[in-house]
Amino acid sequence: MKAHLVRQKNIAEKISPEVAISNWKDWKWQIRHCVNDIDTFETLLDIKFDPEERKSLEETLEKFPLSITPYYLSLIQADDLKNDPIFMQAFPSPSELILSKDDMHDPLSEDSDSPVPGITHRYPDRVLFHISNVCSMYCRHCTRKRKVGDVDSVPGKEEVQKGLDYIANHPEVRDVLLSGGDPFMLSDEYLDWILTELRAIPHVEVIRIGSRMPVVLPYRITDELVNVLKKHHPVWVNTHFNHPREVTKSSREALRKLADAGIPLGNQTVLLSGVNDCYRILKRLFHKLVENRVRPYYLYQCDLSEGLTHFRTSVGKGIEIMEHLVGHTSGFAIPTYVIDAPEGGGKIPILPTYMISRSTNRVILRNYEGVITSYKEPEDYKPVYCSRECDDCSLQLKLDDASEYKSVGIAKLLVDHDETLSLVPGETERLERRDSEG
Ligand SMILES: *Cc1c(COP(=O)(O)O)cnc(C)c1O
Repeated sequence: MKAHLVRQKNIAEKISPEVAISNWKDWKWQIRHCVNDIDTFETLLDIKFDPEERKSLEETLEKFPLSITPYYLSLIQADDLKNDPIFMQAFPSPSELILSKDDMHDPLSEDSDSPVPGITHRYPDRVLFHISNVCSMYCRHCTRKRKVGDVDSVPGKEEVQKGLDYIANHPEVRDVLLSGGDPFMLSDEYLDWILTELRAIPHVEVIRIGSRMPVVLPYRITDELVNVLKKHHPVWVNTHFNHPREVTKSSREALRKLADAGIPLGNQTVLLSGVNDCYRILKRLFHKLVENRVRPYYLYQCDLSEGLTHFRTSVGKGIEIMEHLVGHTSGFAIPTYVIDAPEGGGKIPILPTYMISRSTNRVILRNYEGVITSYKEPEDYKPVYCSRECDDCSLQLKLDDASEYKSVGIAKLLVDHDETLSLVPGETERLERRDSEG
C-alpha cells in the first residue's frame, strides 16, 4: 500500500474505528472531524511536542485558531515535520505572535472599501462578494487571518440579499468574485440560490468562485456540486495550490470534474518562505497545474497581515523566480507575480526588467538568455486619434456611450481626449506653498 494511503487509513481508524476508511471521501464527515486541537493532532500523527513548545503553541491558538481536514492532515510527512510544506501551511507556529512594526490589521483595506457588508468594491467593474465566513482548513498564511474563527457562520439570505442588491444597483459591475471564507462550505442548494440570483442580474457577465477545496478537501467537489455550477455558466473557479505535494490523486480528480464541466480553472499561489520560495518547486507546481487544466493566474507576494512575518520573502525572491520562468517554460504555465498594495491600492504586477533602452524608433530588449536585441518600430504608424466619438472612428466598435467613459490613473494621462497633464499627490510642500501664496 502506498505511504499516503497507509497514513489515511491510520488517521481514519483513529478518528472513528467503526466507520474508518469508508467515510473518508464523504466531505461532511471530513468537516465533522476537522482537527482543532493539539492533542488530537499529536494522536493522529503519532508525535509529541515538548512541553515548552506546547505552551507557546497553545498561546498561538488562542489568537489564531487551528482547523485541518483529516485529508490535508494525511498529506503531512511526519519524519521531517518542521520543514514539511503541508504542516507549515496547516499547523500554527509561535512565530505568528511576532508582530512586526510593518504589519497591518487589514492591509488591503477590505473593510474600508466595503459599501455594504460582504462586498468589497475596489476596481471599477468587479466586486469581491464574501458569502462565507467559514473554511474547512485555516491556512496559516491567510490574508484574512484577523477574521479566522471570528464569526463561524454563513451569512443568511437576508444579508446575502443586501450584497445582491448592491450588485443589481451597480450596472458597472460585470464580474462578481465569490469569496469568503470558502464559498464551497455552503450547501449546494444555498450556492444554487446565490448563483441563480446573480445570473438574474443582466449586467453580471461572469461569476468567479475562489475556493481552496480542491486542495484541502477535494471530496467537496462532488458531481452534485459540479451540476449546480454548470447551470450558471460562465462560472470560473480559482483555487489555491502552493506546493506540488498538494497535487494528489484526489485533488486531480476534483480538478478533472470541474474542468469537464466546462469551468475554466485558475490558481493563485502565495509565495511563502520555507514552503515554496524556490523556482524549482514552483515550476514543478505550475507544470502539474497545467497538466490538470489549471492556468496559474497569480503568484502573490505575501501581504502585510499580522501574524505572517515568518512567511514573508523579499520581493527580490519573487523576481528571481519569474526570471527562472519567463522564456524557460510555457507562457501559460507562468502566473503574474503581484503585490497587493497596502490600503486598497489593488494588485500590482512585478516583472524583471526586459526593456533596457529605447530611441525614437527602436526598443532595446533582453531575452531570458541574455541576448540583447533591438526591435525596430514602424516609421509610418499612425495611431487612431480618439475623440471618444465612435462614429468618427474607423475602428469597428460602435459604442453609444463612449463619451461617458471615464479614464482613470495613468491611462487618463495617455488618452487623447483628456487634458489632464499630471497626477499630483495631494499633500506636497510645493502645493502647500502655492496655496498659501495664492
Ligand atoms: C483580487 C481582487 C479582485 C479581482 O482582481 P483581478 O485582478 O480581476 O483578478 C477584485 N476585487 C478585490 C477587492 C480583489 O482583491
